[in-house]
Amino acid sequence: MATGWFGPCPHCKAPLAYLESVSGSVTSPKCPRCSQTVVVTRATLLMADNSGPSPTPTRKPAKPS
Ligand SMILES: [Zn+2]
Repeated sequence: MATGWFGPCPHCKAPLAYLESVSGSVTSPKCPRCSQTVVVTRATLLMADNSGPSPTPTRKPAKPS
């Protein structure tokens, strides 16, 4: 079962999403920002967390009516 959690990169402190046991996960993932290997205990897919400290919902483009 896939699990995920959010945490900072140990190198550049970039906010990352750690997705475990998903397609493409590896045991030595690299930070998408600083490209340094992040030590993990399970196969993990690292993704940049773009939600920011105060998440704001992405507004969908309004359709012209
Ligand atoms: Zn990093």
